[in-house]
Amino acid sequence: MHRVLIVEDEESIRAGLTDLLDIEGYETAVAVDGQEAMEKVRQWHPHLVLLDLMLPKSSGFEVCRFIRKQHPEIFVLMLTAKNEEMSKIAGLEMGADDYMTKPFSVSELMARIKTHLRRAASSSAALEPDTLEFGDVRVDFKRYEAVRGKLHLDLSAKEFQILRYLAGRPGEVVTREDLLQAIWGYSVDNMPTTRTVDNQILKLRQKLEKDAAAPIWIKSVRGVGYKFDPEGSPGD
Ligand code: CA
Repeated sequence: MHRVLIVEDEESIRAGLTDLLDIEGYETAVAVDGQEAMEKVRQWHPHLVLLDLMLPKSSGFEVCRFIRKQHPEIFVLMLTAKNEEMSKIAGLEMGADDYMTKPFSVSELMARIKTHLRRAASSSAALEPDTLEFGDVRVDFKRYEAVRGKLHLDLSAKEFQILRYLAGRPGEVVTREDLLQAIWGYSVDNMPTTRTVDNQILKLRQKLEKDAAAPIWIKSVRGVGYKFDPEGSPGD
């Protein structure tokens, strides 16, 4: 289910948007000021943020800048009052993906949200490869087959999924929370311990790496998560 964060300090608009999105089947969360918005982005990791420009504490611009820097994959749709038209260009320059002026047409807004999320879903699916080769390992994700040299590797479904997810984002750090959401389907307010992820990664390494204690393909990024190194370079 797609998660949409609604950032709006005006109660009536916030409530209206929440109802609309709930009805359309999105998972929603709200933030009433810029600080809370950044917290929620960090913790809840929405797919799309509806971002009001004029907010208490930190402005929509600041929130937008934060999202672009920390979570560039999140889609930002900025909402602004008509008399703030001037800031449209500034908003797009700041990295908003789209922009609507209040009062906006509800059906237009819904159509845009739907389009953006559909596009995001298809591009992230395209990221993940059907086959993968690194070192002497060959993996066919469609057939759930993996070999290392002549040795057949017995990977669980979860291990295949984790490897595919990491390999689809080569060199990119994937957090444990990302994996818990993407592979296990947990939502942020219902997360098990991230040890679940660490255990699976350890098993994967034991099967894929020459030395699971000094992995060259699936690397740890201390305090953050994991990344797949397509070069398999030692160290780091
Ligand atoms: Ca406002």
